[in-house]
Amino acid sequence: MSNTEIIPKKSPYIMGIDLGTSNSAIAVFLKGQAEIIPIESSKTFPSVFAMRNGEKVVGRQARARQMIDPDNTVSSIKREIGGSWTKEFNDKPGEVYTPTDISAEILLQLVLKAEQEHTVEWGGTPKYAVICIPANFNDTQKTATIEAGKLASLEVLYLLEEPVAAAMAYAMEKERDQTILVYDLGGGTFDVSILQVDSSKGETPEFKILAKEGVPKLGGDDFDYKIMEIAAEKFKNDSGVDILDLKKDQGIKTKWIREAQQKLQEAAETAKCELSESQTATIFIPNLIKDESGNVHNLEMDIARREFNDAISGLIEQSKEAVDKALASAKLGIEDISRIILVGGSTRVPLVKEMLTKMFDKEPYSDTDPDTAVARGAAIFAASLNVPGTEPEERLEKDKIEPIILTNIVTHFLGIETAGGKFNCLIDKGKDIPADAPLTYSKEYTTPRDNITELAIRVYQSDRTVEYLRKEEGVECIGEFFLTGIPSKARGEERINVTFEINQQNLLKVSATSSGSAQDLEIKRS
Ligand code: AMP
Repeated sequence: MSNTEIIPKKSPYIMGIDLGTSNSAIAVFLKGQAEIIPIESSKTFPSVFAMRNGEKVVGRQARARQMIDPDNTVSSIKREIGGSWTKEFNDKPGEVYTPTDISAEILLQLVLKAEQEHTVEWGGTPKYAVICIPANFNDTQKTATIEAGKLASLEVLYLLEEPVAAAMAYAMEKERDQTILVYDLGGGTFDVSILQVDSSKGETPEFKILAKEGVPKLGGDDFDYKIMEIAAEKFKNDSGVDILDLKKDQGIKTKWIREAQQKLQEAAETAKCELSESQTATIFIPNLIKDESGNVHNLEMDIARREFNDAISGLIEQSKEAVDKALASAKLGIEDISRIILVGGSTRVPLVKEMLTKMFDKEPYSDTDPDTAVARGAAIFAASLNVPGTEPEERLEKDKIEPIILTNIVTHFLGIETAGGKFNCLIDKGKDIPADAPLTYSKEYTTPRDNITELAIRVYQSDRTVEYLRKEEGVECIGEFFLTGIPSKARGEERINVTFEINQQNLLKVSATSSGSAQDLEIKRS
């Protein structure tokens, strides 16, 4: 047997991947612009996985199975990444899939199909990628995304925040040198980012993130629920059945109520999307539920955009408050924002545009191709990165761009607990993280009691300045470790040095040392 291993040549091109909740997209920078690579003749690829007769199915074919065989189909896996969700498919017993495994299958197929696309000269196997993630992903979710990339045989060179990618697509393709506010409203979360783009120093611009805020549980799902409430109220008046109430005994099987809720949710989402185009939408669900006397009820009603707007106005207001907060933390006024960019499916709701137009006195911008803007931005950033180990650079000159400088900010106040449950902050929220090196802060403490040989180091994050670490919203313990082997001395005699190091992608490392020992911890922040 020969020992010679044939290592396939790695492509010098770096892919930009939008691994989306519903759909994914892949792009590469070629001949001076980001090109979306069509997958099965479409610009996007459904992020859906299914098991069929023990075989894995991904993308469009998997989506087609969603209705026929929902038990063996998984969609929206991005919502679970980094969490404890697992699934064993009836169709393939004995194998347990995690969200990371399923994300890896989606990535693998996406890249395989992109590799087969004949319009791109890869010059080897595509291996390197910039993958986009939501701005609010925590460290566990980020690590799980990198892991999914690894399982799909990819080297993830960077995790780029989706709003930043959208801003890059806009600034590099349309107009540079400005202050951009990205309003990103998806299915489940809302994020607002403010970025400054400055190309005065060189060929390519510097992107500086000035502020990031958000509402973790605000999105299109909440809009759907508002329509569900309106419809359920009408249905209750007509049929006597409350399909949103699972607690009350209505003489109907819980399973049937759940199924009716599912149908109502789908109809509500369809009506919502229709209301983005028209002033009214009709909801019609035949045989929605059978009541305890065996009568079958249909749901039929019209909903007006005005009624929908009234129902969601409180939710839109919450997003506006986060925009105000972002402006305040960037120390900017409304007049300082030159461009508002809309990202995410829920920004198609007309009230979103109306609110922003009124607030900023200018129309927000939505990309002419909103489903691919994030992947295009990622491909642009990817083209500015160097592929490790491909020296001399093999990419054609026109397929590269000068390094884009991206400076991030720290998203929380970060510190440790000291005596009496106090918060001692080491890094302030909003501090710039330089593009080329992690941000490092150290502080010296002394032992709080006589003769202690070990000390718990509890690391906290907070979204505002606090003195005490009471159980308050926005204050969270994000990691804990013990520094052991401290030389036994009188209180205050031994020095404990704590160092926080945070990198561009907001991943935090904490270390502590005494004269007798050292410990460190990579924090999984939530
Ligand atoms: P995203 O995560 O960015 O794909 O956004 C998904 C959310 O956008 C879901 O809640 C969709 O229902 C919502 N959405 C998609 N298209 C529309 C539309 N035309 N009008 C309103 N909401 C939409």
